[in-house]
Amino acid sequence: MSAQRETLSIIIPAYNEADNIQAAAQAVRSVMEREGIAAAVYFVDDGSTDGTWEQIGAAAGEWDMVRGVRFSRNFGKEAAIFAGLETAAGDCCAVMDCDLQHPVETLVEMYRLWQSGYEVIEGVKEDRGKENPVYRCMTALFYKIMSAAVKMDMSKASDFKLLDRKAVDALVALPERNTFFRALSGWVGYKTVSVGFRVQERQAGKSKWSAVSLIKYAVNNIVSFTTAPLYLVTAMGALFLVLAVIQGIDSIVSFATHRAVEGFTTVILIELIIGAIVMLSLGIIGGYIAKIYEEVKGRHRFIIAGTVGLPDRRKERGDDAH
Ligand code: UDP
Ligand code: MG
Repeated sequence: MSAQRETLSIIIPAYNEADNIQAAAQAVRSVMEREGIAAAVYFVDDGSTDGTWEQIGAAAGEWDMVRGVRFSRNFGKEAAIFAGLETAAGDCCAVMDCDLQHPVETLVEMYRLWQSGYEVIEGVKEDRGKENPVYRCMTALFYKIMSAAVKMDMSKASDFKLLDRKAVDALVALPERNTFFRALSGWVGYKTVSVGFRVQERQAGKSKWSAVSLIKYAVNNIVSFTTAPLYLVTAMGALFLVLAVIQGIDSIVSFATHRAVEGFTTVILIELIIGAIVMLSLGIIGGYIAKIYEEVKGRHRFIIAGTVGLPDRRKERGDDAH
């Protein structure tokens, strides 16, 4: 167990990143030693099935500033980030990807800004790297909604950030289960500054996101950050009320002037449209109820199966989870 104290805790979520762990640890170590920054690396193994945990153990054996937390299964990157924030001991914490798409040199720049008094340093993508056009359109739509919800431009936001201890404590104290780290770091406030970085090519392996997991991620984040879609339901209702009044008047006039029947197509179309809107609205409301249900259950965000380079919390707390 390392007794050395760190100023900067670098949190690296890792899901099936066996080929990247050593490279990430070495890249961070060489830059931090060169810059004279007392840094520790916290790998959070998000239920990997490849050999990531063994690699983290090996990295910890080579450098005593490597710590590791292992989840009992895959809980997702958000959970991994929050587990890291809860565990980290530094005066400031940074979050970066395991595939070295977030340049370590930018981390140094962020650290220097923190030293000069900034409390939340956001990594902003200068370009989004290689992405296919469909993905680009969908992310554009998602970020439009998120930007409106958060009242900040989210299109260039990333999870690459450095936060002062105060901001970390504020985030860790949030009771909610469905978090969106990328936006919450702005929500906490504090003295904020952005640093641009170019997204690097992935070091090894493939991106861990599938189309389905990205859609789920987008819906989840929109629902946990804004209630605007619920008002959309009301707005649609109001619009249809106006249309109904117009149609109603028209029908009465037709009836009075003996021009009724006809217009069967109109009736069917109206049925279909209203049916679709009612179902869509119920779906939106259902989505929020599902979120309330999840929050009310108050389940653990993650379960820790083991640690390396850290005091064993299960012994301290007498339980498996937290
Ligand atoms: N990641 C994770 N849990 C997951 C998916 C991803 O901890 O369920 C980690 C992954 O190991 C990496 C980071 O999140 O360190 C970013 O993932 P990835 O590179 O696959 O995403 P992309 O760069 O394509 O957005
Ligand atoms: Mg990546």
